[in-house]
Amino acid sequence: MIKPLNIAIIGGGIGGLATAIALLKHGFDVKVYERAETLRSVGAGLTLTPNGLNSLEVIHPGIVEVLKQAGSQLNTLTLKRSTGEAIASNPITVVQQYGQPMLNIRWSRLQEILASALPTDIIHFGHRCVGFEQLDNSVTLFFSGGKTVETDLLIGADGINSIVRQNLIGDGSPNYAGRVSWRAILQFEHEQLAPNTSTLLTSADGKNFLLVDVGGGYTFWSASALSADDFVHQRATASKTRVLERFADWAEPAGEIIKATPTDHIVERPICDRPPLRHWSNGGVVLLGDAAHPVVPSLGQGANMAFEDACELAACLAAASNIKTALKSYENSRLPRTEVIYNRSSIQGYRSYQRDSETTLNEMMEASQMNQNEFETWLYSYHPGARACIS
Ligand SMILES: Cc1cc2nc3c(=O)[nH]c(=O)nc-3n(C[C@H](O)[C@H](O)[C@H](O)COP(=O)(O)OP(=O)(O)OC[C@H]3O[C@@H](n4cnc5c(N)ncnc54)[C@H](O)[C@@H]3O)c2cc1C
Repeated sequence: MIKPLNIAIIGGGIGGLATAIALLKHGFDVKVYERAETLRSVGAGLTLTPNGLNSLEVIHPGIVEVLKQAGSQLNTLTLKRSTGEAIASNPITVVQQYGQPMLNIRWSRLQEILASALPTDIIHFGHRCVGFEQLDNSVTLFFSGGKTVETDLLIGADGINSIVRQNLIGDGSPNYAGRVSWRAILQFEHEQLAPNTSTLLTSADGKNFLLVDVGGGYTFWSASALSADDFVHQRATASKTRVLERFADWAEPAGEIIKATPTDHIVERPICDRPPLRHWSNGGVVLLGDAAHPVVPSLGQGANMAFEDACELAACLAAASNIKTALKSYENSRLPRTEVIYNRSSIQGYRSYQRDSETTLNEMMEASQMNQNEFETWLYSYHPGARACIS
């Protein structure tokens, strides 16, 4: 094991926090640098799948039980036309198949639970990294305001627009995937919404509206539509008007939940990804989570992959005798799997927005889809304890 090793993580999002917990458990000296002044209250919900939950449980035994109390286990997925007509309604049986549920949770609760597993002096808020410089055996981090920090290893967990990636790889901006999304979370009741249920409304012109019970009386809604360019409004009122117009004639509760959402809680964003890389590291710098492999959210795997990365990177650093070997092991283990998930997310994301989206989404729900079943088994049965690091 490489010790003592100072590790700096740029980004206190869910990937960075999970990595900090995993590294502390292995006895490393870790600091997280986050540009925000406090934990961000992100207006979103997330679906955690068995592969991500298995990784979190290895990182911090007992955490999945806490997450289950805070979230909502998905029992039923319903697909409807934009008119409200039901197309299919399927029981979700992943817990019986893989031993962990599909768990829907508020992003902010997930982040709070992860942060509460860390000593309070680990996360340094108000630290925006603006670059780094590698020396022979150390990395110097530069922050806005002029502060510098020396570290043995830098982990870039700073999301899809990663500054660490920009300095390390320099591959420019993310790719716009051709659609814009709106999302928010609020306490909302409606006769069409049942506990432990997700409902996806779809139309033949490439629009989707998803409603998810995320526990605690909260509903997460996420709408998306094809758009020739990645333009988003700067003013919250204009974003709300745009999404209301786009979904004006849709079955309830689409319109009602948008109207009930406080205007400044609606997040309007272009959907983007980046093509897979051959390497995520150089010297004493390595990428993790969306900084390494951002995907479109068609399979809900971005955060789940970040948890897999966190578990694997910590295990590789704990097992290897030097940083180079550890980072090589981590890349060997993670690159092939994340590339498969990227490809699948991208194909599924593209097909879900074509004219035959109704057929595609219905097919995805059919248990008889052999390759879908095989893929899900491969995806969800991932368990970090079941494999050793590959050198
Ligand atoms: C609409 C939508 C729905 C999604 N649904 C799901 C889902 O159901 N399941 C799932 O698994 N994934 C989902 N995802 C993907 C998931 O949100 C991301 O993959 C996940 O948040 C990645 O975590 P991360 O920690 O790598 O990056 P982020 O969550 O983006 O965190 C990066 C952190 O770095 C900080 N930061 C950035 N730059 C700097 C800097 N220069 N200096 C210091 N700090 C910095 C940011 O403030 C932030 O806190 C969804 C994404 C979207 C857009």
